[in-house]
Amino acid sequence: MNDRTAGVAGDLQHFEVAGRLTIDLAALKANWLALARRAEPAEAAAVVKADAYGLGIERVVPALSAAGCKTFFVAILSEARRVRAVAPDATVYVLEGPAFGAAPVFRDFSLRPVLGSLDEIGHWAAYCREISQPLAAAVHIDTGMTRLGLTPGEAEEIAGDPTHFDDFRLALVMSHLACADVPGNPMNGRQLRQFQAVRRHLPEAPASLANSAGTLIGGDYRFDLVRPGVAIYGGRAIATGDNPMRPVVTVEARIIRIREAAAGTPVGYGAVETLKRDSRLAILSAGYADGYIRAAGSTDERPGADVTINGRAAPVVGRVSMDLLAVDITEFEENSVQTGDYAELLGKQFTVDDLADRAGTIGYEVLTNLGRRFQHIVKDD
Ligand SMILES: *Cc1c(COP(=O)(O)O)cnc(C)c1O
Repeated sequence: MNDRTAGVAGDLQHFEVAGRLTIDLAALKANWLALARRAEPAEAAAVVKADAYGLGIERVVPALSAAGCKTFFVAILSEARRVRAVAPDATVYVLEGPAFGAAPVFRDFSLRPVLGSLDEIGHWAAYCREISQPLAAAVHIDTGMTRLGLTPGEAEEIAGDPTHFDDFRLALVMSHLACADVPGNPMNGRQLRQFQAVRRHLPEAPASLANSAGTLIGGDYRFDLVRPGVAIYGGRAIATGDNPMRPVVTVEARIIRIREAAAGTPVGYGAVETLKRDSRLAILSAGYADGYIRAAGSTDERPGADVTINGRAAPVVGRVSMDLLAVDITEFEENSVQTGDYAELLGKQFTVDDLADRAGTIGYEVLTNLGRRFQHIVKDD
């Protein structure tokens, strides 16, 4: 390769991508440490399901391990194996438990299932008997989600016959809060009391109830281990008040065209927004295929999201396309915005949760959909 082609190859990454997604590992670690302090004297784990909420297991898990995190939760077995590959000594729980026949994989990779039904408990115990090893597992009690977990009735039933727990090691008893994002919701107290009551019937074991919101509520919700997810990634866990977490993700898209359009001109699919004044628009190279939620577009009746250019808000105009998005820069000083500049779609100023609010969804959905096409940049300082 001569110098000239090397230069072109170097530029290619710049020209080939629609935008860039920057992950701030220092903010990620600071968020986990803040939650860990909040959880004390309980241990803080980290939930890294869905590829660490879209940010990448292989970069998030080593960073959190370096910050001191020793316990990770994932949803499914393939995620657990990816965690194991980068965190050889960590404790790894698989929330969806073992599919029938998967127990040997859990043993081979030292993974712990979260057992959520009488059948799963029976299979795990039988496998442990067969190999004569009391492997560790968690048991999940359903106190109000009606998804996974033993009903309190089932928990009492097996508690009446303690031989259920003879063959494996009950390493954790857990449940999951349905409404902790609204701290005053009476459901929280009901779930707490039910969890405490069921626990008394079961063999003595460490307990875990709190997700991010439960960790921030603190107090009796902490038990021995907390399981924050979204707050580690900078998302808003509690619906009311300021979000105390540092933003972890910045998403920027390139401005690929700047154009003028007269009052009365429709913009985008469906012509759902018509310009009310002579306008200057910036067309950005990002759309719903990049995870920019389509419902964040605007119509004549309803404003959409904002993007940030040079520190200033520019409102989205019309529907979000698959790859493109129009924003209004009429009020920006002429020539202050150029083709080739980047516009910030998400960051400190207009956050993941701001976009979620405008699109009628939650920050979790925004995060886990981001950036299949973006250049990923990791910073850590
Ligand atoms: C996803 C999940 C968590 C983490 O929830 P956040 O609201 O993201 O903190 C904790 N526990 C269970 C069982 C989960 O499914």
